[in-house]
Amino acid sequence: MKIICIGRNYLAHIKELKHPIPEEPLFFLKPDSSLLQKNSPFYYPDFSNNVHYECELVVKINRLGKSIPERYAKNYYSEVALGLDMTCRDIQEKEIANSSPWSISKVFDYSAPMSKFIELETIGKVIQDLNFKLQKNGETVQETNTSDMIFTVDKIIAYLSQYMTLKIGDMIFTGTPCGVGEVNIGDSLEGFLEGNSVLKCDIK
Ligand code: MG
Repeated sequence: MKIICIGRNYLAHIKELKHPIPEEPLFFLKPDSSLLQKNSPFYYPDFSNNVHYECELVVKINRLGKSIPERYAKNYYSEVALGLDMTCRDIQEKEIANSSPWSISKVFDYSAPMSKFIELETIGKVIQDLNFKLQKNGETVQETNTSDMIFTVDKIIAYLSQYMTLKIGDMIFTGTPCGVGEVNIGDSLEGFLEGNSVLKCDIK
């Protein structure tokens, strides 16, 4: 199982971090050791002083596929989740300054808290019209609709599968909306998909 993460997929977020707008989907990978499930707490890593949350819609691949045409991409997933792409922003800034890949900043243990997957059919809406939001200590800090994505899920699947075979169980983080910010020990994060609380993560 691999976790593929799209960066810079919402315009307002690109602007808040003053990044350039990508012409093609930008992606990186997280290892399976980054997964944090069952609403387990996130332990603040001792190698960073500026850890950010990034709440994202996550899509699970349910069929093996290579070079998937965009028009068939919808046949390769049926479930979505909310995930947090936890990021050591201080380390990422150094990596960017050194023209290094985003590695330590994104791949560390438990850097991917994840809700249960939910069938799109159960939600009853199309993937590019899902509302999700993140609250920190009860206050909404991120809120968007997936129609605001620059690259749609189907486009992302078509793009990625040109280079990597997508396998059953692979997960794709589809990028974060604006409102990213730091967490501190004692904070509590809660993610809502279509108004339902699906993810809780206490920072310890
Ligand atoms: Mg992200």
